[in-house]
Amino acid sequence: MEKKEQLYEGKAKKVYATDDQNLVIVSYKDDATAFNGLKKGTIEGKGVINNKMSNFLMQILEKEGVKTHFVEELSERETLVKKVKILPLEVIIRNISAGSFAKHYGVQEGVVFDEPTIEFSYKNDDLGDPLLNEYHALALKLATKDEIALVKQMAFKVNEVLKEYFKKLNVTLVDFKIEFGKTAEGTIVLADEISPDTCRFWDSTTGEKLDKDRFRRDLGGVEGAYQEMMRRLMGA
Ligand code: ADP
Ligand code: UDP
Repeated sequence: MEKKEQLYEGKAKKVYATDDQNLVIVSYKDDATAFNGLKKGTIEGKGVINNKMSNFLMQILEKEGVKTHFVEELSERETLVKKVKILPLEVIIRNISAGSFAKHYGVQEGVVFDEPTIEFSYKNDDLGDPLLNEYHALALKLATKDEIALVKQMAFKVNEVLKEYFKKLNVTLVDFKIEFGKTAEGTIVLADEISPDTCRFWDSTTGEKLDKDRFRRDLGGVEGAYQEMMRRLMGA
């Protein structure tokens, strides 16, 4: 597979064309941002960890019947994926209150929900990724009714699979953000990444944060947290 021109550079990844128009190469960087790009930094080795972890988790999800963009890990930082048209929706699932949920609704972090919640935000950096509901998404033609129904079903399935998987590693999956895209054949697949950048992971015993909140909140031990998650998941 030949790597061709760079199509896009985002905050955490670069996307390259290949000689197959239906495939792109994603390259993971160590760059970290938070608060809509206001806070910038580097997390040494993050790109390697997020690449491997995301691929590992997507393969688990595939086995459980969730279609993903994953094709093949090419190197420590690069992965071949199906090129998709990303639905401009960030899909957030929560099992426990934290982050913006705790802030918006004036509750402490750590309240365990009886049922997971789902919310959407409009993937639009200029607008600061505003929250919206399904009707807003339809009005803005961000996705069709059927696509939204499928995305919801897939997102809850991802949560069930990952929650159980992480539980065995003594990790509590607090919340996460995922993205979906449409392949050339019109299939909706899980795309982008699943990593400590996009999930909240708490040690189930100590409650220690093992994710990007260590960077966002200047808690220190950022690299160590990413490495610890990698070790628990993949033993390396
Ligand atoms: P951002 O755009 O938010 O800064 P990244 O730095 O992670 O995020 O950039 C990666 C970009 O690639 C994102 O916009 C993401 O939606 C997009 N993307 C993820 N998976 C695919 C895919 N399979 N095909 C095309 N684009 C993808
Ligand atoms: N998240 C993400 N990208 C975003 C916003 C949120 O990956 O642009 C993830 C975040 O890591 C957390 C979950 O989505 O796991 C919920 O984030 P929240 O809404 O609480 O926002 P935050 O506290 O990060 O502002």
